[in-house]
Amino acid sequence: MHELSICRSITDIVNRHAGDKPVQTVRIRIGELRQIVPETLTYCWGLVTEGSALESSTLEIERVPLAIRCSSCDARTTLSSPILVCPECDGTTVEIVAGEEFLITSLELAEV
Ligand SMILES: [Zn+2]
Repeated sequence: MHELSICRSITDIVNRHAGDKPVQTVRIRIGELRQIVPETLTYCWGLVTEGSALESSTLEIERVPLAIRCSSCDARTTLSSPILVCPECDGTTVEIVAGEEFLITSLELAEV
């Protein structure tokens, strides 16, 4: 499963950054263009962290909408569907400016 390997990479990164400090919340940002189902990711997070130091941590997922910039009229638009056409001039020469993100934005460590 795609989400399972993503969760494994996240735990690797989190463990490297947090060291032996307990982690409460892991916040990640995922663009709409990424073929990821947040619910599945949360479920896999539970599986991957079970029995580890991250077992009690929460994964918070923020979705970033797809946005494009049109090369013809320079309009920047946030799209609700992944159809890469400028709604201002129907231009198809567009540049994706948001929606491809995949990053860990912050780690919240538990009080000790
Ligand atoms: Zn345009």
